[in-house]
Order: sequence, then structure tokens, then C-alpha cells
Amino acid sequence: MLLQSEQVNIDEPRIGKLLEITQDVGKSHVREVLAKARQLEGLHESDVAVLMNVTDPAMLEEIYATGSFIKDEIYGSRLVLFAPLYISNYCENECSYCAFRCRNNTINRRALSQEEIAKEVTALVKQGHKRLLVVAGESYPDDQGLDYVLKAIKTVYATKSGRGEIRRVNVNIAPLSTDDFRRLKAADIGTYQIFQETYHRQTYRKHHTHGKKMDYDWRVNALDRAMEAGIDDVGIGPLFGLYDWKFEVLAMLQHIRHLEERFGVGPHTISMPRIEPATGSDLSSAPPAGVTDADFRKLIAVLRLTVPYTGMILSTRETADIRRHGFNLGISQISAGSRTNPGGYTELGDGNADGQFSLGDHRPLDEVVRDCADMGFIPSFCTACYRMGRTGRDFMDLAKPGLIKYHCGPNALASFYEYLLDYATPQTRAVGEKLVTKMLAEQDEATRKNSVHLLDELKQNKRDVFI
Ligand code: SF4
Repeated sequence: MLLQSEQVNIDEPRIGKLLEITQDVGKSHVREVLAKARQLEGLHESDVAVLMNVTDPAMLEEIYATGSFIKDEIYGSRLVLFAPLYISNYCENECSYCAFRCRNNTINRRALSQEEIAKEVTALVKQGHKRLLVVAGESYPDDQGLDYVLKAIKTVYATKSGRGEIRRVNVNIAPLSTDDFRRLKAADIGTYQIFQETYHRQTYRKHHTHGKKMDYDWRVNALDRAMEAGIDDVGIGPLFGLYDWKFEVLAMLQHIRHLEERFGVGPHTISMPRIEPATGSDLSSAPPAGVTDADFRKLIAVLRLTVPYTGMILSTRETADIRRHGFNLGISQISAGSRTNPGGYTELGDGNADGQFSLGDHRPLDEVVRDCADMGFIPSFCTACYRMGRTGRDFMDLAKPGLIKYHCGPNALASFYEYLLDYATPQTRAVGEKLVTKMLAEQDEATRKNSVHLLDELKQNKRDVFI
């Protein structure tokens, strides 16, 4: 049980005030904030409010350019790839925007058996994936509770296909008690991810009308319980479209600062889902506070400036075009070839039937990899940090002085090269090999030496190589 002083406290009046007083600041003030952002130390909430209120097209371009600068400084041209694995669409909650809500009888309910999970994982491994995000609606079959998820994680790690396997399992499931989070940690997960959906209490109440999820505080304090249980890589994010996006960003920032103050480290990743049409949800087709594409671009860039060392994830909810823009503005992780219905990777269908929401990007992994490489981004399947124990505060201690890139550059390149050797179509391999050569030429001598060493190991038939 968290003490009052340990709980997340979103100060709504303060957010309203900040958004109001930063409405008409001059260009010089905006430029001061941008100069501060270039120091790579993050921004204060009043700076963030200033940037979110910018509407002048020329100043917006300066914000985008700063996002791009920071992305390049910290992440270089790496883009981490993963796939979600939906294991069940049963849910006890009633969330107005979701196809899995319990009163929606227009979808088929299903929880995959362990054999079915193994088949799904095999299909994903055969595509070349190395990281999965295990996702489930918020109730589990046959009263198995968390045991169902723990068994699923075990099945994922145990499934091999050819020379491949899943090397990191992240998890997005219902909030747990601290004791259950300890059990989840013991299952060797990477990141535990949970979204507050909306930080605005009244709006939260309106859109969550049944089940345990009605309890705002139980959910908003979940990451504290996870971190108390020793899970030091956590993922955060609102669902954009329920309430004013500017409010959500500032509230999430208060949440992040709370975690930093209490645990010495903030979230490892931020996700930024926008509401997409979902079967059986009228609201999802016309979200009450939908974010336009133009505002979404601003949102991505502003977040990149605000928390430079936090990974930013864009899912296949978004179209290929929006995702391409996002890479330059600050996105560092993307899902690819996704299905949001249990069984979606092994059974025929368009990926939308019985899924949680509609997809905007339907391209298979190989096409996404080729597209990223064509744009000069290295699709990375690297899982080295988590497996070497470089997580939580240890990761940030390496990332902030810029030391992580000596690992990341060679490791990302090696994981991409492994994909090219084992899974890529000839067309993708040709594009990829050209990019690898270009990247090697651009690396400094010490980094190139490490990269060449790893690539040589792969050519000699070793796999899963990293430093
Ligand atoms: S958003 Fe999550 S909790 Fe809500 S209905 Fe969908 S699966 Fe259930």
C-alpha cells in the first residue's frame, strides 16, 4: 500500500494555468526554449507548455528541426522494431473506445492456448522478429489470473524456429499488486507498459464505466508498484483523443517527474497511441478530442525535446506516411507487421476482425524494414542492453553522457545484418547491404572496429552477437 506522499498526484489546476499563461509568448522566448532543449537535458513543464502553444508555421519548423537534431544526437539513425502478440481479448472492463470492452458482443472472444501461442511466436520468429510485446485484455481464462500470462511468457521464450528466437518479451497487461509485479519481474520481462488512457479524472470516469479499471488511482499508481517490485524498465503513455492533448502531455510529464523523484529514473519508453476505429465502439470513429495530424507531429517533436533519453514508440495504428514523418521528429521504436487479434499471425484475415482497433499500416515486416533502410534508418532488432543488465538507472547512467552509442551503433548494425542474412527478401537485402556499408564508413574508428568484429562473427555463422 503506497503512502499518500508516494502516490501520483496530477495537479489539474496547475496544468490549466500553465497552458493559459503561455499562450502568446514571443518568438525569442520560444527560441530560448529550443536552445535549452539542444543541451539534451530535457525541459521544464512551463517550457513544454510554451512549445505546445506555438502555431506560427516558421516556429513549428524550428521545433521540428530541434526534434530531429536531438533524435540524431542521441539515437543516431537507429529504429528499434517489435511486434505485439495479443494472447487474449477477454476483458472485464468497459472502456468506451475499445473493441475488447466487456459489453461488446460483436467480436469473437478468445484466449490462445499455449500451443496456439507457440504457433504465433513461430510465425513471428520466421519473419525475423526478436522482440515481442505480450498484450491481453484485462481478464484471463478459467480463473488462471496472472498465471496465464506467466505461462505465455515462458512459452514465448521457449519457442525456437530455425536459427531464431524471441530475445526480449515486453508486457502490456492490467495493473497488478506489488507482489504480482514481483512474479512478473521473475518471469524475465523487459519493459512493463501501461497507459493511463486519460489523466483527466472526470474524463476518465466518463469513459471507464465497469470493472476494476474504473479505479483511476489503482491504475495511475501501477508504475510505482511495478518499480517497487524491481521492474526498472517501465513504459508510459496516454491514449490521445479522449481529452485535450496538451493537458495529457503535461499530466504525463508530472507522472514522469514523480517517478524520477521517487526512483531516480523515469520511464524507459513513451507510447503515443491515437484512438482509431474499433469494432463496436461508436466513439472510436469520432473521438471527443481527436488529435489532428498536424498537432500529432508537433506532439512528437515536443516530447522528443522534453524527455530526450526516453524511447518513443509509434505503433501500426498510424499510417506509413505518418510513421515516416515521425522517425525524423523523434520516434525511436516502431511495431511492424502487427495484428491486434489473438491468432492474427497464423490465421487468415485482414488483421482488423476481432482486433482491438483498426490498423493504419498493414505492411509486412520485410517491407517496413526495406522502407526504413531506404530512408537511411537502421532497423534494429537489438536486445543487448536488457540481456546485459543495462536497464533502468544503469541504462540512463550510460545514455546521458552519450556512452550508450558505443554499444548501440555496432549492436544495431549487427542485429540488422543478422536479419538481412536470415530473413530478408533479395530486394531488402540489396538495400540493407548498401546501408550497412554506408554506416560503417560514417562510424568513428573505435565504433567501426566493434561493428566489423560483430559482422565478421555473423559471416562466420555465429548468431545473437552483441557487445
Ligand atoms: S482498453 Fe483494455 S481494459 Fe479497456 S476494454 Fe480494452 S482491453 Fe479492456
